[in-house]
This record gives sequence, structure tokens and C-alpha cells, in this order.
Amino acid sequence: MKYIDLKNIDINEENFNNQDLEFAGNIIRSGGLVLFPTETVYGLGANGLDASAVKKIYLAKGRSSDNPLILHVSDMDMLDKIATNISNIEHKLIDAFWPGPFTIILNRTLVVPDIVTAGLDTVGIRMPSNKIANKLISYAGVPIAAPSANVSGKPSGTNIDDIFSELSDKVDCIIDGGSSEVGLESTVVRVVDNIPTILRPGKITPEDIRRVIGCVKIDEHIFSKISSDEKVLSPGMKYRHYAPNSKCVLVYSENSSLLVNKILELSNKYSNPLILATTENISSYTNKNLLTINIGHKDNLDEIAQNIFTALRQVDKLNPDIVFIEGVKQEGLGLAIMNRLIRACEYNYISL
Ligand code: AMP
Ligand code: MG
Repeated sequence: MKYIDLKNIDINEENFNNQDLEFAGNIIRSGGLVLFPTETVYGLGANGLDASAVKKIYLAKGRSSDNPLILHVSDMDMLDKIATNISNIEHKLIDAFWPGPFTIILNRTLVVPDIVTAGLDTVGIRMPSNKIANKLISYAGVPIAAPSANVSGKPSGTNIDDIFSELSDKVDCIIDGGSSEVGLESTVVRVVDNIPTILRPGKITPEDIRRVIGCVKIDEHIFSKISSDEKVLSPGMKYRHYAPNSKCVLVYSENSSLLVNKILELSNKYSNPLILATTENISSYTNKNLLTINIGHKDNLDEIAQNIFTALRQVDKLNPDIVFIEGVKQEGLGLAIMNRLIRACEYNYISL
């Protein structure tokens, strides 16, 4: 396995040596697996046009074969090879949000193997803004199929330390680009009857989309439990996700003292509780000698998004008998944070 350290390197600098990324691009093109940074979370990538390479992703993650992958492109020519019949609204969304944390579901062409789309006639496509990701894709010369870098069910990887032991023996190359800028997976959108419909919330918010198109819908399933045989627009919605081993409970109130008091009251019933708390509230718990992890400032949703997957991964190291997680307001980026937390808590949610 080749390890490429680009953590403290500015790849825009003139003296940046591209040889390493060229090498990694060759691994992709010849059917290998590469763990690489993007602005959302780390990706576990393979040649998106090579069915046997893509199969390795499913095996490495233990991912269900009916959960399709996103194809990552570096330019518009690559898009035209894999998608067809792109509508005006879809073009407008692409122009507004690419490159960036935005995935659009489009009609696929026949070059896209069935295994990528889980047999659907649509394909999820994204153009990352992360410079390392972009160069890697253009060196590969093919779209890179990449789900989040984690074993299925676990929190997505947002830095190499969090996922090294989980994935290093399953990949041919690791590119370390430091911590992910956004920290949550991309917003996934499908245009249905001319209305952009959010299938997975992310950094690009409903407000951002409404500003561009004039309307937006949020799929009703982003906060609801789905039975395994229910038909949904985005198959990934069905799966247990992001969950630590310990039982987790999400608690939210707009009123901070109500929220803190509820968590203190609930914690009393356990011998070894852990609280994932905002910076503002954390001393209320540490004062009572409770174990805590700081998830960031209450009103800084960017900070909470960046921290949340690492915090969920730390839970397993502390092995508590229960975890209480302070929620945030379901607005803007808060929608995406709460969508991930509700799943991490397997729908144990107390709203006051
Ligand atoms: P991940 O690869 O872990 O970032 O997850 C990708 C998400 O995009 C999953 O929720 C998939 O179900 C969803 N997705 C990918 N391709 C499609 C598609 N063609 N139609 C609907 N949802 C898709
Ligand atoms: Mg994932």
C-alpha cells in the first residue's frame, strides 16, 4: 500500500510535484482502490467505468449491493460521457454548485456499469472542489466511483487517523489531505417534475437551491425510519448509519437550560453516561463529573459539521453505557447535521 502525505502541502504551488497523484491516478485507472480526500468526507475510490474495480469498493466496505455509488468527475467532458438528457434546471444546478459538495441524480449513459447504479437507470454525479480530488480524477482520466470512506454503518471518515485501521489493509493507496473542510457528505438532489428534491441534506442547503431555481422540496424520508422493503428515491436512506456501538439518544430544545436539565436528569439513571455537548453547555456536565465530548459552538454549524463524525468515532473508544447528544436547530446546515445524528441515534430522538 502506498501512502501519500499531502497534509501540509499546497498543491497549487508551482513547485508541487505531481508524480504522486499521477501514480495514484494510474492505480485507479488500472483497477485499484484509492482512499482520497474531498471537501465533504474522504472517499474510497475506484475506476467508475470498471465493474470489477467497483465491486472491490462494495467488498471493502461491506456495502449492500442495492445502495448505488456516486461518480466523481473533474470536468464537464467527463459528465457528458456518463449522463444524458440533462434538463435546463439540472444544468442550472450544476452551474451554481459545481465544483462543490453537491451531487445530482441524472439519467445515465450505457458506459456506466450496472454495479455503480445498483441497476437504476440514473446515476449520482458530483464534481468535488477539493484540489487533490480534482487532480486525482483528471490523472485517472475516468470518473471515480466513491462512497464515503468507512465500513458500512460506521461514521464517515473525515481524517486518515479515524479510518486507517478500518481500511488501510483493503486499499492500494492512501492520500492524506488533512481534515475534511465540510465534514458531512454531499447534498444529494434529484429533479422530480421540475422541482429539485433533496434526498440527502448537506452543506448546500434548501435555501441555497431555492435562491437558484425558485423552488425546492425536501424528501419526507430524511428524518423518518424506512422499512427495508419500502421504495425510496435514494436507496441509502434505508440503512443503519453512522452509529457508534453504544446506544445513543438525541435531545434538542431551543431553550438551552431545558436541554441541559433534561440530559442531566436522563444521565442520572446510568452509571457511565457520555454527553456530546456544545461548547456553551459543556461545563454544566463536567461540573457534575460527567464524561463529555465537545462538538463545537452552538451557533457555529460549520464547526459542528466538521467535528461530528470524529466525535461519534470517539464514542466507541470510551465505551459508555449510554450517549446523549445535544441536537441543533433543523435549519440550513443544521438539517444535514440532524439528519446524520438521528440515524446515529437510530431514531431515539427527544424534542422538547
Ligand atoms: P455515500 O456513497 O456513502 O456518500 O452515499 C451515496 C448516497 O447517494 C447514498 O445515499 C445513495 O443511495 C445515493 N445515491 C447514489 N446514486 C443514486 C441514484 N442513482 N439514485 C438515488 N440515490 C443515489
Ligand atoms: Mg456513506
